[in-house]
Amino acid sequence: MSTSHTASGQRAGSSGHGRAGTTIYQRAAAAVRNTRLGEAVRRTTDRFRFARRRAVAALDDFEALREHARRIRAHTIDHLDYYLAQLAQRVQAAGGHVFFARTAEDAVNYVLEVARRHQVRTVIKSKSMISEEIELNHHLEANGIRAVETDLGEYIVQLGREKPSHLIAPALHKSRDEIAQLFSSVAGRPLSTDTPTLNAFARAQLRHEFLQADMGITGCNFAVAETGAICLVTNEGNGRMVTSLPRVQVTLMGMERIVPTMDDLDVMLELLPRSATGQKLSVYTTIITGPRRPGETDGPEELHLVIVDNGRSNMLGTEFQEALHCIRCSACQNVCPVYRHIGGHAYGWVYGGPIGAVITPLLKDLRDWGELANASSLCGACTEVCPVKIPLHDLLIGLRKETNAHRPAPWGERVLFRLWAAVASGPGRWQAALRLARLVQRPFLQDGRWRWAPPPLSHWLTDRELPAVARQSFREWWQARSDRPTSGHGVPTPSSHGAGAVPRQAGGAKR
Ligand code: SF4
Repeated sequence: MSTSHTASGQRAGSSGHGRAGTTIYQRAAAAVRNTRLGEAVRRTTDRFRFARRRAVAALDDFEALREHARRIRAHTIDHLDYYLAQLAQRVQAAGGHVFFARTAEDAVNYVLEVARRHQVRTVIKSKSMISEEIELNHHLEANGIRAVETDLGEYIVQLGREKPSHLIAPALHKSRDEIAQLFSSVAGRPLSTDTPTLNAFARAQLRHEFLQADMGITGCNFAVAETGAICLVTNEGNGRMVTSLPRVQVTLMGMERIVPTMDDLDVMLELLPRSATGQKLSVYTTIITGPRRPGETDGPEELHLVIVDNGRSNMLGTEFQEALHCIRCSACQNVCPVYRHIGGHAYGWVYGGPIGAVITPLLKDLRDWGELANASSLCGACTEVCPVKIPLHDLLIGLRKETNAHRPAPWGERVLFRLWAAVASGPGRWQAALRLARLVQRPFLQDGRWRWAPPPLSHWLTDRELPAVARQSFREWWQARSDRPTSGHGVPTPSSHGAGAVPRQAGGAKR
């Protein structure tokens, strides 16, 4: 495994567009206008982030746990070749087969070859983002093999022929009516939209699939190097059905989803459900070591672990290596103001939100997908919640720099930003610019906001609100406040606004 690649050494592309000839800007604009989507995404992500906040507050020292987890992830990725070799040796010792897939194509071909050897006609799957990444379902179907998703959210997006829009809630963009329509088309009769009816229908359908499938395919939350165990974290129990009923099991794992020891797994299991859904523990934590042994009543006769690179090793040894620390908890998606407005599909591939904006250009193609790094306000909320302390907003800035080096911005934009830099880097120039802006903005204001503007600002204002430049800047307010007589300890005496309070509408503009 190479550790010397640079992130810029990606496969080259030239379209400048992510998916289907559209840009993130076009997809985001369409998503923002879809108010139903916005409500659905905000409702679910609010639920997750409030639950996470409560779960984290209940821990004695969450920050110490986070730091411990960060060190485990950093150590593991720094010594990835060692731990992957150890994992492969332990899995084989337990009776399993291991295949290292350098590309998506290698992984798909291996799975197809195993399926052909066992004359597999139906595959049941538990949730696996990497199988989405390599488009496994498409390739299975193209080779005459039925693939059935058994995670409820994945089942819904499969019926809708869509990609997941969230790491742990793949169908969060779907309304109950839409789900009822999808299920009704499978049932051949109209189904009611109430949750028990929909759940009962999915359960009955999937039970039948579990019983007749020849092969089970799973993802892998973590593999444990010291024991060769595979850990699956689910809330629906489908992971256990997929790994106990079919005679052949294939587990797909991204090569970074590994921990050295069971103790390290314990730390990750403390953090993953809390950061994802606010649960102390997921409903089912399944740990599998090797295929079924003599005397055991369930489990596969044959177990294959497919360890997928697919561009990950390009990140090793670069400033983006920390992106490989991710444990796919989704906390960064749930707090990201951009994701919460546009949902996951607008990112154009299978990974959305801050972590998607970082890894998609690195796994696919920086020139075609580097624009995703602009889908961030750089507020740092993602970095703040990440349980393994990935500096996501720093990585996004790094990607912007790399992308710009490949494809410089138009000259107009460059001139504008040079001008901005010159004005913003001198206090005198900044104050003068503010005074000028207060004059210039007058014809465009209404109720303290810009209501219209000439191009190109008019385009920018289509989906945004721009407050007026305040009549008094913070510095001016601070200066005026400091000039007042002090209490004798250097503290200005209280004003009519109350001691130390920033006056509401300091510049007369509504905020
Ligand atoms: S980057 Fe951090 S917060 Fe985002 S999914 Fe990965 S582990 Fe979770």
